[in-house]
Amino acid sequence: MEYRVAQLEALGRFLDDKKQEILEATELDMGKHGGMGRALDMAQGIVAFQELLDDLLLKVKGSMMGSVLGWNFHDVSLQPSFEAFFSEILLCKNELNITLNNLSQWMKDEHVDKNLVMQLDSAFIRKDPYGVVLIIAPWNYPIHLFLVPLIGAIAAGNCAVIKPSEIAKNTERLVAETLSCYLDNDCFAVVTGGVPETTRLLENKFDYIFFTGTSHGTEQSLAWMWSQDLLEDLGCVSEIWWDPVPHPRAVRWLVGFPPQSMFSLPTGSSPVGRIVMAAAAKHLTPVTLELGGKNPCYVSDTCDVTNVARRVVWGRFFNAGQTCIAPDYLLCTIEMQEKLMPALREAITEFFGSNPRESPDFGRIVSDKQFQRLRALLCSGRVAIGGQTDEAERYIAPTVLADVLPSDPAMQEEIFGPILPIVVIANMDEAIDFINARPRPLAIYAFSCDSKIVNQVLERTSSGGFCGNDTLMHLTLTSLPFGGIGRSKIPSPGHWELDVIHGLSHGEKCEFLPAARNSGAGKYHGKFTFDTFSHHRGCLHRNMGLETLNTPRYPPYTQQKLGL
Ligand code: NAD
Repeated sequence: MEYRVAQLEALGRFLDDKKQEILEATELDMGKHGGMGRALDMAQGIVAFQELLDDLLLKVKGSMMGSVLGWNFHDVSLQPSFEAFFSEILLCKNELNITLNNLSQWMKDEHVDKNLVMQLDSAFIRKDPYGVVLIIAPWNYPIHLFLVPLIGAIAAGNCAVIKPSEIAKNTERLVAETLSCYLDNDCFAVVTGGVPETTRLLENKFDYIFFTGTSHGTEQSLAWMWSQDLLEDLGCVSEIWWDPVPHPRAVRWLVGFPPQSMFSLPTGSSPVGRIVMAAAAKHLTPVTLELGGKNPCYVSDTCDVTNVARRVVWGRFFNAGQTCIAPDYLLCTIEMQEKLMPALREAITEFFGSNPRESPDFGRIVSDKQFQRLRALLCSGRVAIGGQTDEAERYIAPTVLADVLPSDPAMQEEIFGPILPIVVIANMDEAIDFINARPRPLAIYAFSCDSKIVNQVLERTSSGGFCGNDTLMHLTLTSLPFGGIGRSKIPSPGHWELDVIHGLSHGEKCEFLPAARNSGAGKYHGKFTFDTFSHHRGCLHRNMGLETLNTPRYPPYTQQKLGL
């Protein structure tokens, strides 16, 4: 217990000592270096920023912008963003405090009910560590998403290997350079790198693997870009490709499509999850998969549109929409769409000003590849709010798309960016059918002044988590389990499977259902994280006396013993 507490307290010191560096690194990783001027504007004024820029330019002595982006801004005092502070520091500290305050209780043996014969015995659940666990994290909350699982892994007594995301390169570097100064290096190690390194890592036998991620990572995006280029060369309209490795066979098939044919292979978060699970299966290693999702948000006709708009806008555009549980799309009637639009516009203006690009509180897209992917989704429905983009800054304005059809690109994949499509439905029943016809999401949101409507949506759907009349907030409650739910509820016929495409001839029309976009398996946060990383060992400690009570179960099994 003392050892675990000491390591957890060391994690607390890491967060305290490195707070400023964490905020700087995450802001840079989340593309906010483009907003550095604005952040400093607020804190020190334009003059200070100009001086800083001059200073930095002197330091690199005229080097290219690419190397500027690779800098470590240790000597730069950026205005910490509230979003980074909230997610990377505050929520982690909260998890840490709850764990430290409750650890002795959680570790205690849990005594269970006994039958008559065992009244003098002791029956209990012992919380044993698994051993060495592997934690693989994504880029979108690069500290939070390895640190919160790590807190539970340490609390449960495990050793851990931590694999931060290579895409959040500033945070990755910071973690690799500094975490070892706080934790026991015999038990905790940080491994950096991308797909090849993680693949090698996964060849090892771990006792538990905790994976958070999607398929919108490096390789997938590369594959997407690669096939996109190819299609453009061919004169085809659009393609969304998600396989982590470009597939030579795909080229053949795509070449077979005539110019102007349009189809999409749905993206989703399960491909990398599957790779991890397949690697774990080789050693029969248990896994938790925290994957992505396309989270519906139903808005009933009976609600306060101003409040709905504020809560939806906050949840959708937090971290520029790069949040796994962000409301992905709205479902409402045409009348509600009309009413909501001015309220959404007002909320966006209230939060980010009339030009969100100038707001220090609105983030950027993490990478060029993600930017390209998101920009391609803007052709869905009608741009009602926003829609402006700037490739150089990887800026996409907070955007609302109206009258989006289920077949539009924005509805084929997890958006994971500042774009909010509205799909018009006739009523609540249709909204529920719409949700149930798709893979079970990580979160479902429902807004209504009538609690019966919220309850109906809750009761008649299935998802990892649920939040009525707000967005994201269920994640902040450590007493609630957080996680996804298995595989698609509906059979997903053929959908994206390549063999199906293979069978198509030139010009033949094809339609794909969304792939089984699994939101994950397992749960964590608070005590659930401790339980996730604990083997619940069923133990019975018998009394050595009263042997006569055991006689009935021993051979010879006489007829008397059988009650015959
Ligand atoms: P990702 O799957 O590309 O990467 C996650 C991790 O897996 C990284 O550390 C990466 O190095 C590794 N990885 C990537 N491809 C791999 C491969 N082929 N083999 C082995 N390892 C590989 O995900 P991402 O783009 O970094 O993260 C964004 C996604 O994560 C979104 O879809 C989001 O919904 C999801 N997410 C889920 C949760 C949750 O709690 N359920 C939280 C945050 C993010």
